[in-house]
Amino acid sequence: MLRLTFLGTSAAMPTLHRNLSGLAVRHGRESYLVDCGEGTQRQIIRYGSGFDLTAIFFTHFHADHYIGAIGFLRTLSMLGREAPLDIYGPKPARKLLQGILFVGTDPLSFDVRIHEVEPGEPVRRDGATFTPFPVVHRIAAVGWQMCEDERPGRFHPDRARAAGVPEGPLWGELQRGRTVTLPGGRVVAPEGVVDGRRRGRTVVVSGDTRPCDATVVAARGADLLVHECTFGDAEQARAVETTHSTAREAGRTARAAGVSRLVLTHLSTRYDADPSPLLAQAAEEYPGAIEVARDGLVLELPLPD
Ligand SMILES: [Zn+2]
Ligand SMILES: [Zn+2]
Repeated sequence: MLRLTFLGTSAAMPTLHRNLSGLAVRHGRESYLVDCGEGTQRQIIRYGSGFDLTAIFFTHFHADHYIGAIGFLRTLSMLGREAPLDIYGPKPARKLLQGILFVGTDPLSFDVRIHEVEPGEPVRRDGATFTPFPVVHRIAAVGWQMCEDERPGRFHPDRARAAGVPEGPLWGELQRGRTVTLPGGRVVAPEGVVDGRRRGRTVVVSGDTRPCDATVVAARGADLLVHECTFGDAEQARAVETTHSTAREAGRTARAAGVSRLVLTHLSTRYDADPSPLLAQAAEEYPGAIEVARDGLVLELPLPD
């Protein structure tokens, strides 16, 4: 399973309909948050994405992206959580999070492991690798590329039978890509019985950024790009000034990267009620599947084959 739940899709200020940044990602046994703006814990309750987090990935430390972690971790502690929680983020993750999470408060019921990441240094999680990439924002900021591990190739029972391999544990060995020895001593290699390994899914989250090459490289051929689009064409100068992207620029980035799907998020309050101009402007640049996220949007990403 690879499911994304958009918990907050507003930039800078919450509105009646949109909370500050937060994205829940559920993948196999792991449950992640990407950013945790104020009010994220209520959004998790509202949309049922679950408190059973294994890690939080921060893109940067503007207040609208992390303040929600303070109260949320307190709640997890009150609920008696014991499992450690990993937190990843760029500088100054350690200094800043240690200051707000632990100083002057009762200790939490669980360990928080803060990992300050450098762009390009991959983070291994169960079944996937997360790589932070350097984006262009007013302060140190990264986007996150999530690459699911490859899966074994398709197994062909008819070919296994034709090769004289009896149904049973030997099939499993072949499926895992191992050469097997039959009871009679003959050796059968997995090639010809099992197809080549299948690629996993790739999801890229831009975080707050001007359009940049690093995002294009990280999102090359991705199944999904979640890109910020704080502004529309009318606010192009403002986008440059505040180091954000317009919807059109997000569309260009998605096209340059050749992604399969684009979801726009992090909207200025002026597009809260009607994001249709943003959708139209991005669609002029990007011909693929595209939508503007709303709070509560759930996406299930199917396997590529
Ligand atoms: Zn922001
Ligand atoms: Zn920001």
